Amino acid sequence: MQLVKSGYSSKYWSSGIKFGVYKQFIRPTAEYGLQLKIMDTSVLDALEATQLKASRILLQLPWNCSIQAIRRLFCMESMQCRNKILNAKFLRSMHRLEDYVQITRLVQITSNEVKSIYKDCLKQNEFIRDLETASTKSELRCKIRNIRRSDILDAKKGCKSSTKPSTRISDSIPVSKSLRLSSILFWKTEEEGEIQRDLVRWRLGRIAFHQECLNCNRESLSRKHATLCSGIDQVLFDKYEEIESFYSQNILDTVLNKYMYGNHISIWKDISWSINQIQKLCLGFTN
Ligand SMILES: [Zn+2]
Repeated sequence: MQLVKSGYSSKYWSSGIKFGVYKQFIRPTAEYGLQLKIMDTSVLDALEATQLKASRILLQLPWNCSIQAIRRLFCMESMQCRNKILNAKFLRSMHRLEDYVQITRLVQITSNEVKSIYKDCLKQNEFIRDLETASTKSELRCKIRNIRRSDILDAKKGCKSSTKPSTRISDSIPVSKSLRLSSILFWKTEEEGEIQRDLVRWRLGRIAFHQECLNCNRESLSRKHATLCSGIDQVLFDKYEEIESFYSQNILDTVLNKYMYGNHISIWKDISWSINQIQKLCLGFTN
């Protein structure tokens, strides 16, 4: 109880902090021993499902929230990708145990055997060769980041092997080259949290998801319909005249994408106000 009073409650944690808790405390348990071999599809499917469940529970997201949207917003690579990276890093350090020359030599000799575990991994893990050639730690980090980013952008990854990929909600969520998390995921005060939580919910497709629009009594409240029907399209256009490109299909996403990084609380307030307008006009919210 004392912890809750001091702010240690999941209610007050920002989405970014919650996800950090997952990565630091929960994921390592699921990954125990994963560096030793490339897992079968059935095992990876189970790990993928667990990762998704854990992140949905932590972030309080419903089961039908887009997998790809979560992956993009939180820069979360698939467990298949984690397996390969951990495996490649492990083998790389086995070959470079500088303090243990004898072991390194032993590893070298056995690696050359046709039926060695190393050769087996090499066949299944395309990242080994690439990561082994990295000469410095920073080069290694950079290569790993590129591998993670390609995995995150690939809509066929991050779900069970039998799941159909879907990118409709998520395909415009930007993923930075450095894999820096968006600043909308971190807030310092509960007041900022109220605003930024709206932005996260909108970005994950939790506000307009094909319900009936109560403003015009038409079905299928798409993101584009919501911005046009509620009139916020015009309001935002008047205020953000410089926004020209419509690559995100609607102005709300375009403005939000543009201000995903850095501190833009006054602009985020406008976006949150717009989302509340949609909720009032199109979804019948009363407060
Ligand atoms: Zn409408």
